[in-house]
Amino acid sequence: MNRDTICVQGGYTPGNGEPRQIPIIQSTTFKYATSEDMGRLFDLEADGYFYSRLQNPTCDMVAKKICELEGGTAAMLTSSGQAANFFALFNLCEAGDHIVASSTIYGGTFNLISVTMKKMGITATFVDPLCSEEELDAAFRPNTKVVFGETIANPALTVLDIEKFAKAAHAHGVPLIVDNTFPTPVNCRPFEWGADIVTHSTTKYMDGHGAVLGGAIVDGGKFDWMAHADKFPGLCTPDESYHGITYAERFGKEGAFITKATAQLMRDFGSMQSPMNAYMLNLGLESLHVRMQRHCANGMAVAKFLEAHPKVAYVNYCGLESSPYHALAEKYLPNGSCGVVSFGLAGGREAASTFMKELKLAAIETHVADARTCCLNPASSTHRQMNDEQLAAAGVPAELVRMSCGLESSEDLIADIAQALDKI
Ligand SMILES: *Cc1c(COP(=O)(O)O)cnc(C)c1O
Repeated sequence: MNRDTICVQGGYTPGNGEPRQIPIIQSTTFKYATSEDMGRLFDLEADGYFYSRLQNPTCDMVAKKICELEGGTAAMLTSSGQAANFFALFNLCEAGDHIVASSTIYGGTFNLISVTMKKMGITATFVDPLCSEEELDAAFRPNTKVVFGETIANPALTVLDIEKFAKAAHAHGVPLIVDNTFPTPVNCRPFEWGADIVTHSTTKYMDGHGAVLGGAIVDGGKFDWMAHADKFPGLCTPDESYHGITYAERFGKEGAFITKATAQLMRDFGSMQSPMNAYMLNLGLESLHVRMQRHCANGMAVAKFLEAHPKVAYVNYCGLESSPYHALAEKYLPNGSCGVVSFGLAGGREAASTFMKELKLAAIETHVADARTCCLNPASSTHRQMNDEQLAAAGVPAELVRMSCGLESSEDLIADIAQALDKI
């Protein structure tokens, strides 16, 4: 099926007389006739549900739609995008292991890896996404277990050369995880370029209305864990906490990753999305393909207007020919990138503050990628834990304004931006 059709109808096919909309299974638990029936579920010998901390039917229907959209083999929802990235990484890494990550990733993920996971004994090396193959190669260590990047980084808007990163990861016998939040599978499917695991903050375009927090993890089903069994004991040796199951043997390349993350990590950490949130996420997904076109058109119109304005020092938008990421965008994002544009005002940090205060349609919010246009100065909010040097390395200098173009008329958005720029 075409991606547009999957957005509308994927993940759930009602039978005769069943609800047209996906049912909200608002239940923590599920009833069984015998202890033996339930035992088979606990042994992962039968499919079914026993407790919504691990799995819930509504969540699984929505995960299945996202899985179909990405072209993966298995998927799960999580309570947030942060949870998705943490569980995707922690499913592969333990104390003593090492991660190679793009330096321009989302501030929350940067903190997760560089501060919180470090406390767990997991270290990381960050690389410039435009680094050479040799520089990328030099970042690996014998204990490297995974490579991580974002298709379009939030808010730096760098575009990941997915093939280059996948090639380096595979040469070192480890998988590539790509956070595909900004383009969504409507505009890019990282599995087609060699990525092994895809993550999402579904809080952004997938929900698209600023209504529900959520995340998703999708497995492309191609990484051969058993061929690198020495690196991934969690997948390739018996899990004593699960009656000695070896995930990679029992569930194969297609299912091992998500089964382990569900059976082990959700059991122990419990960050499943609520069925009500999953239902609302699905409402967003039904129009994702239509909304992405407008977000991209508005992003492009605003980027072009800003680029031509004398008070604007520079504009980051990979759709612009002036962007150093334009060639990568043509390759990986031929139908458009996203509605998020970032730019620096010639007047620096102070001009950014005046500009944002004067906007009438665009609200100041710690959010991106919903129906209403919003903007943010990362240096004074999401990235405020970073010093100027780190800000520059992360691609978010102090004067940078991130604007997430919503679904309004582009003429109204540009008129609002123009009047705010006039006030500087
Ligand atoms: C927002 C975001 C996250 C975190 O997602 P939450 O749903 O806010 O937890 C992770 N990665 C990217 C690229 C994001 O934009």
